[in-house]
Amino acid sequence: SFNFKNITEIIYERLDRRIINLLRLIGVYGNEIKMPVYVVGGFVRDLLLNIPNYDIDVVVEGNGIEFAKYVGKQLDAIVVPYEKFYTATLVFKDGFKIDVATARTEYYEKPGELPQVDVSTIKKDLYRRDFTINAMAIKLNPNEFGVLYDFFNCQKDLEEGIIRILHNLSFIEDPTRMIRAVRFESRYNFKIEEHTLEILKRNLEANYLERVSGARIRQEIEKILEERQPLIAIRRLAELGILKHIFPKTYYTPTMDEKLERVFRFLPLVKQRYQNISDFYAISTVLLEFYDKETLDFMRNRYGYPKKFIESLKFTENMMLPLKSMIESQLSFSDIYKVIGKGNPYIFIHLSAYLDDEGQQYLLRYIDAILNTKLEKVTGKYVMEKFNLKSGPVINEILETLYAMKLDNPNLDEILTVEKIFEETQNKINKAEVSENTNR
Ligand code: ATP
Repeated sequence: SFNFKNITEIIYERLDRRIINLLRLIGVYGNEIKMPVYVVGGFVRDLLLNIPNYDIDVVVEGNGIEFAKYVGKQLDAIVVPYEKFYTATLVFKDGFKIDVATARTEYYEKPGELPQVDVSTIKKDLYRRDFTINAMAIKLNPNEFGVLYDFFNCQKDLEEGIIRILHNLSFIEDPTRMIRAVRFESRYNFKIEEHTLEILKRNLEANYLERVSGARIRQEIEKILEERQPLIAIRRLAELGILKHIFPKTYYTPTMDEKLERVFRFLPLVKQRYQNISDFYAISTVLLEFYDKETLDFMRNRYGYPKKFIESLKFTENMMLPLKSMIESQLSFSDIYKVIGKGNPYIFIHLSAYLDDEGQQYLLRYIDAILNTKLEKVTGKYVMEKFNLKSGPVINEILETLYAMKLDNPNLDEILTVEKIFEETQNKINKAEVSENTNR
């Protein structure tokens, strides 16, 4: 290991004092229970790229859980062990977390399934990782503190901006790495190395992605959606043919791209108004457009979309073009209300895919009207008592009409208006009776 360079200087230049002290302490505790200990993976990658990263992943050559318990005792942190994986999470008083793992090799008995685990050395642990840029470690024990363990020329790839697998079976062992490759490529503006790309395409065409659970695929897509420029990554997934293996009936046309671009523009505004909006469902409104019923059922099964979401999507998809023109000609809110009612956030997101900025602004005003409009004085009970009506569909019609009118005019007098609405309903009923009588 003496041919590895020491990067203590970089550590002191780029990291907070607090983090450095913590890393130093972890190294000291490693010595105290005689275990070599390293910080690994994304933390090392981002340190070398000079990008802030507070996800500290520690690997020990020895029992990771035992080590975590020792550190937890010294630093008064809570230890959450995962016995099955020989890993543990340390949770400090201030909420700061560190993941501790046991250096290990993994066997993949079947592609796409969770690996079997064996205790191992740091070199083998790094070799099983996804890409060279993520396969470096920094030693923390005091006698070697700051030594960069780079067995596979990882630093060179990092400097040249190359995403490279460590061995030819990598994508077969874990096909979600195909999606991860694209994520890192677009996050850092790196390039997937040629040989890696060749193997990726070969394994993709052999349908290895289909062997992975939908939940794991969805997780990786969700990580892409947390990135700063998700659309760039989605485009690349489409370009490499990966998207077709996730959304089998989606044709990534320029129109599709434009729709997604509009959705990404509108999405933050929806999130300001509704809680728990899923970016995955949001893009799915566009990606799943015009799927046949069977494929939609398959997708629901595989990726866990709620039944309601799929039903609403199917129900509203033919309304998008009419609604687009209604919004573009700025029809009144009450007219829009007659088509989609109160709607739901995913209908609005879907609709935003069809609208330019001006249209989106109008849609947003509609959403705000829906969210801010309530009938304050007139209730079902009020209508029944006032007009001497028995409960039935008429009551609801009157309330809905009143509500729609209030969308157009928030200051209307509910009491006066509901009387007019009632008179008109009466007139209609009378007319209907008259014409029925004269027809006889
Ligand atoms: P991010 O900055 O997005 O958190 P990360 O590299 O830290 O990226 P994590 O998913 O937190 O990503 O994983 C931590 C480390 O574990 C990675 O750096 C990588 O070395 C390894 N790793 C994660 N997922 C895989 C995988 N599917 N296959 C192999 N190694 C993986």
